[in-house]
Parts: sequence; structure tokens; C-alpha cells
Amino acid sequence: MHEQSALAGPTTGALDSVELRRLLDAERRRYELVESAANDGLWHWDIAHDRVHFSPRWKELLGYAEHEIDENINEWLDRVHPDDRERVLSALRAHIEGLTSHFENEHRVMHETGVYRWVVCRGIAGRDEQGKALEFGGSLTDVTHRKVAEEQLAHRAFYDPLTNLPNRALFLDRLRHALRRATRRKDFAFAVLFLDIDRFKVINDSLGHMAGDRLLVMVARRLEVSLRPGDSVARLGGDEFTVLLDDIKDISDATTVAERIQKELSAPFDIGGQEIFTSSSIGIACSTTGYQRPEDVLRDADTAMYRAKARGRARHALFDTAMHAHVLRQLQLEAELRRAVERGEMFVQYQPIVALGEGRVSGVEALARWRSTERGLVDPGEFIPVAEETGLIQPLGRWVLREACIEAMQWRSQSSAGACTLSVNLSSKQLSQPDLANVIDEVLRETELPAEHLQLEITESAILDHPEAAASTLRRLKQLGVRLSIDDFGTGYSSLSYLQRFPIDALKIDRSFVQHLGVDRAIDGDDARIVRAIVMIGRNLGKQVIAEGVETADQLALLRDVGCDFAQGYFFAKPLDGAACRNLLLVARRW
Ligand code: C2E
Ligand code: MG
Ligand code: MG
Repeated sequence: MHEQSALAGPTTGALDSVELRRLLDAERRRYELVESAANDGLWHWDIAHDRVHFSPRWKELLGYAEHEIDENINEWLDRVHPDDRERVLSALRAHIEGLTSHFENEHRVMHETGVYRWVVCRGIAGRDEQGKALEFGGSLTDVTHRKVAEEQLAHRAFYDPLTNLPNRALFLDRLRHALRRATRRKDFAFAVLFLDIDRFKVINDSLGHMAGDRLLVMVARRLEVSLRPGDSVARLGGDEFTVLLDDIKDISDATTVAERIQKELSAPFDIGGQEIFTSSSIGIACSTTGYQRPEDVLRDADTAMYRAKARGRARHALFDTAMHAHVLRQLQLEAELRRAVERGEMFVQYQPIVALGEGRVSGVEALARWRSTERGLVDPGEFIPVAEETGLIQPLGRWVLREACIEAMQWRSQSSAGACTLSVNLSSKQLSQPDLANVIDEVLRETELPAEHLQLEITESAILDHPEAAASTLRRLKQLGVRLSIDDFGTGYSSLSYLQRFPIDALKIDRSFVQHLGVDRAIDGDDARIVRAIVMIGRNLGKQVIAEGVETADQLALLRDVGCDFAQGYFFAKPLDGAACRNLLLVARRW
């Protein structure tokens, strides 16, 4: 281009050839100096003669020496990435035809080493009076570093760094596309699987986060191999994964994949030489339900997953309208439960607990009851979980405790049942409440019930869900002087080591073991053996043992036989209203 610009000068005619050469040489040197100093590669394309001058730096950027590149435009164009070529050519054409004021294009060019570099190419055409492009000159800048950084940032925004799977944002985006296709094409259907690893927390807590992370990565790889091309898998966070099954024929396609995934994940994982077994629960939502928003599909697949877990782990469940109705009912229930206490719909019933030695009532268990104006008597099995999920259990639990303490204090003043122990249930959500001990202390002070007359019932899983927090809370409760018992004992974890670590006073054998005792007087039946073993464990550890759900005289006889300390059940009395319970205590009946 230097020749061109020099020759184009208006003074040409007035100079002799020596002078002209001198000027040209000076111009060339100036140009070469600038060219060599520039970090960008420069190029000049003489369109009329179809010759291109590529600067040494241009060649160097692509990894070539001076003589290795010809003066041919294809030295550049042939190296452009096939996916970018059409874009580059049409931008060049547009500028040559005068449709754009300048040429600028970002694309990939193959380096001598065979890898593609990202470059920005800028240029401008020199034209004659008619606007016809005669020449084209410009620069080439290597922007690979910037591009890589940009790609990494984009990757970070859309991929989970641990497993390298798409994250929630990217998954929702893909889901949005699938939804659009489903509304356009009547024959197109898709399904979303929502997968959660069963008991991942236990694995994570017992083996450490590193092992947990490795398990998640291995799960991710197994999920990838269980899918068909076109399907996509994502990690939403924690141990939650989602799968988008694109273009399914019917719902059985989705359940087949769910089964395949569950089979794949049930094989042991080798983590640091240790074999880990897991199972997974999967919820399925299908586009045939008729969704508008991707978030709704995820929500329903999530609901179905919870249903699968509730049915017992390692299952899959399909979201259906009944489930939708269930969700609505839960929401409704929650709204009504919020108002229940202030509307006076809650009350407490008391079920006697009998000391088997003397055969007398030695305590009562307070059980929450809800008589809803809308739906009648609601089972605690239904409203307690809702209260737990919504956090309502904290005010509700406090209300039950206070109510029961007041009632128990009245009995003390009226009957000989002064020494009667009051048992109150605590849910796991209450146990993780940091000020629980203060709340209980406050109620005890206010109602003046002696702390040693209060027994708090906690399930095994409540303790083992958060063992560290539970340990300190239980210790603080013990310091208040209250007694602690394990409710539904035998149904939770198999490890009993926690019995020694936590300050527990009593074990309540779950109803399910008591139920079958004495049915055919199978004294050596499995359940009888378990009950006998629990009584032994209790005795060895210095803990009292209470049997729940005693319904027959045979069961009672058997429990006495094995040396169980206390019993509770319909055989003695059903849960009773406060007044009825007081009467029972007054008559001081013996069994
Ligand atoms: P739980 O603490 O194990 O209470 C014993 C349950 O067994 C009660 O059910 C009681 O009515 C029932 N039961 C007692 N004897 C027999 C029997 O002989 N046969 C049979 N089939 N059942 C018997 P309920 O009142 O429906 O309570 C269910 C669960 O709800 C309780 O189990 C407890 O976990 C929870 N719950 C009840 N009230 C409260 C409360 O105030 N706070 C908390 N956190 N949970 C509560
Ligand atoms: Mg209980
Ligand atoms: Mg129980």
C-alpha cells in the first residue's frame, strides 16, 4: 500500500527518477518501521491484480515465516474456520460492494500448529470515483486470550463447576425451548426427570465433603451415559439432578429411562477404595400436562420426586393431577393451620402411661389435636408434617407445651397424681431451633411445672439429622432438669452408638414392634426378640423402656415378662381430653 499511496501523490510529475526513488525508499522504511512495531498483523489486498501483501507480523501471528505465505488472499480465507467462513465472506463482499462503511469481523483462523486462534480482522477499501473498490487494507489482531476468558465466564454462568454439567439457568433455557416446540408441534412431547440421591447427606456427613463431591461427579458421569443423544442432564445444586428427555413418544419412554438411571446408580461407587452404595428417587413431569413456564415443569417434577421418596426411597413417581390437588390441599391446609391456634381450634389430648411394676398410671403423653371448622378432626399425621415444613411447628409446639403444663399443674393440685410425668413431643424442626432450651425454660417458669416432671420425646431421626446441633441442644435441655426419651425407637437408624453419646433417659419402643406381640403367643417371634433386646439394651445403659401401642392383655403380659418398665396404648386408654384424663387419674385404677 505504500507504493500506492506514494504514487498517488500529486507531485509525481515534477520529480526526477532519483528523487522519486529516494522518496519512495524513505516512505517504505517509514512504513516498515511502523509495520514491525505494530502488534497487529497488517495486510493489503490489491484487488485489481489480486495480490495480497501480508506483513511479517501477520504471518508470525499464524505461526509462519516470511517466505511461507504467498501473496494470495486464500492464504487467509482458506485458514478461516469452516463455521466462520460464510460470515467472513459475506462481510467482505458487503464492504467491497459499498454496503458497509468498514469491514470488521471476529473469527477463527488456523494457526500453523493446527489449532484455531480467535482474531479480529478490520479493514477498509480504497475506491475510485465511481466507488469501485480497487484495494483493501487492514489489520489482524489476535484476541484468543480475551475470547477464552469470555468463554470461561459464559461457561461459569451456565455450567456447574463441580460436575461440568449444565446448571439450573441453562437447563431452564433448554426447557423453555422444549416448551416452545411443544406448543408449535402437536406431536412433540418431552419429559423432565427430577433426581435426588437418597441419604446423600448421611454419606456427605460420614465420609466428608471431598468424598461427597467425588460421588456427585461419578453420578454425573453415569447419568450422561444413561441418556440418548439429544437428551440433556443438569445439576441444580446439592444432590439434585435433572434430565430433559427430548421428543418422547409416550410416558413409558420416561419411566424406562428413569428405571435405567436407577439401575445405573445402584451399582456401587468406588470412592477412595471404599465401596459406596446409593439409590435415587426420581420424579417425572411430562409436557402433556400443558405447561406455560419452565419453572412449573421443574416444580411438578420436584413434587413427584418427593412423592417417590415418601413411598420409600429408590422409586420413581409420575406427576399427575391428583398430586397437583395434593399440593393445593397442602397449601390450603397450611393457610388454615396458621389460623387454627388463634381460632381456638387446637386442643390437647392425654394418653396415660402405666408403670408396669405397680400397674398404675405414672404419666401421660400430650398429643396435639386439631378440630378444623372446615374439615373436622385432622389427623396429626397430616398436620404435623405441614407444620414442620412451614415452620409453624415452633409456635404450635410451644402452645401444646404450655397448654399441657397448665393442665398438669391443675391435676397436681386436685389429685394424688402429683408425681405424674408429662410427656411432650418435640419435632426435629424444634430441635434445630437454637433457643429451644430458653423457650422451654420460660414455659416451665411461667406454669411452675417442676422440670423433672417434664419428659420430652424426640425421634431418632430428629437427633441424627443434625447430630452436632442436637448434642448441644440436648445438653442444655438436660441442664434444665427435664427428662429426654427417644420416640418410635427401633424405626430409625441401626447404629445405637448415639445412645451413649446423648443424655437420654428413656426409650419408647415403636408401636410396630408391639403390634404383633402375642398374636399367636409367638414368644420367640422376631418382634418379641427385638422387644426383649431393646429392654436388655435399656437396662444395660441405665435407661427406662416404654412400650407404645399396647392393645391386648397378651401384649401386656409379654411386656411384663421381658421386664419392660412402662406401657402405653389403647388397652389402658385412648388419648383423652383433659377432664376425662383427670377423672382417670382420680380413680387411680390398677392394671
Ligand atoms: P407418637 O408420639 O408416637 O404418639 C403415639 C401415637 O400412637 C399417637 O397417635 C397415639 O394416639 C397412637 N396410639 C397410642 N396408643 C395406641 C394403640 O394402642 N394403638 C394404636 N394403633 N395407636 C396408638 P397420634 O395422636 O395420631 O399422633 C401421631 C404422631 O403425631 C405422634 O406419634 C407424634 O409423633 C406426632 N404428634 C402428636 N402431637 C404432637 C405434638 O404436639 N408435637 C409434635 N411435634 N408431634 C406430635
Ligand atoms: Mg410421642
Ligand atoms: Mg411414638
